[in-house]
Amino acid sequence: MAAAVNAPRSGYEVLRRIRGLIGFHRAMGIEVYPRSGGMRRFLEMTDPGTGVPAGQKAKGTTRPGQAADGRTGSAGTLLRALRQEVAACTGCVLAADRLGVVPGRGGRGCRLMVVGDWSAQDGGFAGEILFGPDEDVMLGKMMAAIGLAPEEVYVTNCIKCCPAGGREPDSACAAACFSFVSREIAVLEPPIICAMGDLAAGMLTGRKEPLIRLRGRFTGCRPAASAVVMPTFHPRLLLRNPEMKKAVWSDLQAIRRRLEGKSG
Ligand code: SF4
Repeated sequence: MAAAVNAPRSGYEVLRRIRGLIGFHRAMGIEVYPRSGGMRRFLEMTDPGTGVPAGQKAKGTTRPGQAADGRTGSAGTLLRALRQEVAACTGCVLAADRLGVVPGRGGRGCRLMVVGDWSAQDGGFAGEILFGPDEDVMLGKMMAAIGLAPEEVYVTNCIKCCPAGGREPDSACAAACFSFVSREIAVLEPPIICAMGDLAAGMLTGRKEPLIRLRGRFTGCRPAASAVVMPTFHPRLLLRNPEMKKAVWSDLQAIRRRLEGKSG
């Protein structure tokens, strides 16, 4: 009988596939497996290298979450599922009186992901306001200044709930919420992430230094080895301290050079 396509050829290969699948499923937010099914069905669920069921021949180099014709088909489905999960989340103290949840927004084949701390809104709540009404205007200008169109950027926050009463979420909220942004990164696979603000920079780099020391250089990304993080100041800080714009401009220029394929 002919061997099935993609059938593991050795014990080592089986272990390699299991390890790859577990890593892939964790990145997709799957923490628990049903007891039934057995190893064979488990191995047949999805090939982490191709995003297609094992046993089916991969056509081309489609990434997980990306349809064969280049459109992000299941990425949209994964992000929609994530949004529903966020809307129902009660994982930290913010859930009790949040103004609402603010999902990420932007191009699914983004060249740059921007991750801020949280959406701060003190008037009426709007789920489209990512960082804050004035902060979003400033962010749009920053992206345009480095030549990025809106569809080339995906913007999101480390903390998905918009807190009531101007409350400032703490690191416990950021830790509780971290799996959501990690999963956005796993789905979208951005090559470069700009972390704006102390919380975002600390969570994404896993480093405890103050932002003033972290900013200005590319650093490894805690949730995704394939991405680099440029920590910089949040537009909220720039609105209060315009003199900090020069430092942020320098960080954005480093991102622009990296996007152009020049060293950071
Ligand atoms: S901030 Fe995050 S962890 Fe906390 S309730 Fe909102 S979605 Fe859940």
